[in-house]
Amino acid sequence: MDFLRRLFGARGRNGPADNALHLYVRCGRCGAPVQVRIHLYNDLAVEYDDNENIAGYRLRKEIMDARCFRLIYADLAFDRNRHELSRAIEGGEFISRDEYERLTAAPPGAL
Ligand SMILES: [Zn+2]
Repeated sequence: MDFLRRLFGARGRNGPADNALHLYVRCGRCGAPVQVRIHLYNDLAVEYDDNENIAGYRLRKEIMDARCFRLIYADLAFDRNRHELSRAIEGGEFISRDEYERLTAAPPGAL
């Protein structure tokens, strides 16, 4: 049993294999779902502390849906290991992947 526990324990520590973060958002005006793929090494901006050391990373992203074309602003903070600390959004809301898939599967006009 110890061997099994080790197997599963080791698995849980792995991050996303492709260094990508997927954001699922929903437009606050028309309700359209949008998926955004963030590359954790190319898309994040470095933030420095007072001593010029890397304090963490930040992502400010303008997202546009394909229906009403209004901009949605997402703002995410990451620690030095690129682990997400917090997220905020203006003009829309974050939704889960399940919610995103449910919304994209719905026929037009059903939302
Ligand atoms: Zn919209």
